[in-house]
Amino acid sequence: MNTATDRTADVVIVGAGLSGLTSADQLIRAGYEVVVLEGRDRVGGRIRTTEIADVPVDAGATWVAPDHDEVHALAARLGIELVPQFHQGKGVISLGGKRRVESLIALAPWVMADIARVMSVLQKCVDEMPVERSWEHVRAERWDAMSFGEWLRRQRALKQTRSFMRMVCLVHWGAPPSDVSLFNVMRYIKTLGGLAHMLAVEGGDQQDRFLGTAHRLARGLADAVDSYTHPDASVEKAAAGIDVPRVLVDSAVEHITTDDDRVVVESRTHRICARYVIVTASPMHRAAIEFSPTLPDHHYGLARSWRLGALSKAFVAYDHPFWRDHGLSGEGMSDDDTVFLTFDVSPDPAGPGILMAFCDGRGFDAHPPFERRRRVIDHLAHLYGDRARNIIDYTDFSWGNDSFAPGGPNPAVGPKAWTGFGPYLHEPVGRIHWAGSETADQFSGTMNGAILSGQRAATEVVTRLEGRL
Ligand SMILES: Cc1cc2nc3c(=O)[nH]c(=O)nc-3n(C[C@H](O)[C@H](O)[C@H](O)COP(=O)(O)OP(=O)(O)OC[C@H]3O[C@@H](n4cnc5c(N)ncnc54)[C@H](O)[C@@H]3O)c2cc1C
Repeated sequence: MNTATDRTADVVIVGAGLSGLTSADQLIRAGYEVVVLEGRDRVGGRIRTTEIADVPVDAGATWVAPDHDEVHALAARLGIELVPQFHQGKGVISLGGKRRVESLIALAPWVMADIARVMSVLQKCVDEMPVERSWEHVRAERWDAMSFGEWLRRQRALKQTRSFMRMVCLVHWGAPPSDVSLFNVMRYIKTLGGLAHMLAVEGGDQQDRFLGTAHRLARGLADAVDSYTHPDASVEKAAAGIDVPRVLVDSAVEHITTDDDRVVVESRTHRICARYVIVTASPMHRAAIEFSPTLPDHHYGLARSWRLGALSKAFVAYDHPFWRDHGLSGEGMSDDDTVFLTFDVSPDPAGPGILMAFCDGRGFDAHPPFERRRRVIDHLAHLYGDRARNIIDYTDFSWGNDSFAPGGPNPAVGPKAWTGFGPYLHEPVGRIHWAGSETADQFSGTMNGAILSGQRAATEVVTRLEGRL
């Protein structure tokens, strides 16, 4: 429960997503007192659990790659198990309304050849790009000046190749290729370890998911932050546990005022004085905070041009994963304007069977619930046959319609916005430091990137608290 009081701390952290909670955890273990202010009524940010047929499922972040070391380490620390993403059998592809049952890597040979050609050209450019200060690369401005859609046209990519790349864009940025700059696409691929890795299930970004959802990570970390007792705390305080929680939800930060000595961070219910603040809100949501003195101009340009895309997820439950009976993996790809990708996230082969459908926010979010449900089930029936109409439960979640800090999964950074504003993503402004997955130089846009960014920001602040800078 929140307490409406003035408080002091060494560091205030804005946002209780994985990056903010990581910063808090690191700072507190280094001996500093923190307060985390979160605008939502829950922790986790873009990690969120929803429920279908009494099974918890991930409305937000789901998968972990084998090289997401920080996520693996946190899961091990909190005792949270991972399970492999189901990936046996054939996939279903629907392009232009024509449905085919295929292995996803066996589209028509000429299409496969074209996708391989385009991916190889793209990967060669990516290989040239440095991860750090990539905007200083000699070709950075040229890459950033055009959209990914324009680049695909210039490569004379086949229609089916463009459909495939549209799906890649929708799932990573919640926006079509015309809305994201080529540089943004390339840098993202670079920080994730290559296009093939990014698209793969086994050995790639979709390899594993959490037993009982990814939200257990955020909840576990928030509990650790709340319950930590400093070794030098009084015996009475240690015996009693902390007197007030450190992670405060329903507390959207509205003002941040800094001077030479301190920072004052205010929400409607809390006023915290501290020495430093770490803001982890996505760049676009930083603009909802009033900074005094105002930030340098380019920070407002960054917030305006790094707008989050909108991705939605629908879940449909069946008595058992019936598609497996027909040798299907539940992996489906489509150029439909509602459902463009499906995965099997069933908890058990015995049931219930659960299909997760990624939906394009533009063909989904504006519709009333019954229409969204109709569209999803109609398309699943197209992909998996009429049996897909015999559902036992349905639910969905639209990140673009969220009431606080809407949008996700990542900013759809349009042409010229990366080289223009990206360099300022995590440059501290006085006592204000920045974290958040998009500020990570590695694994940006993932949970692993969020943790890395939280660690980086906490290290920056500890260096200053210790007077080493
Ligand atoms: C649909 C979807 C699917 C995804 N799939 C995957 C996946 O499979 N694997 C993967 O690794 N990643 C995935 N991601 C991305 C992953 O969720 C994010 O990269 C990561 O969780 C970001 O963490 P963060 O702490 O940087 O930001 P956030 O989680 O956005 O946390 C920032 C927090 O700041 C809060 N906030 C904002 N403004 C204020 C304010 N003024 N005052 C107080 N609080 C504020 C927000 O409410 C939020 O809780 C997915 C995301 C989405 C949306």
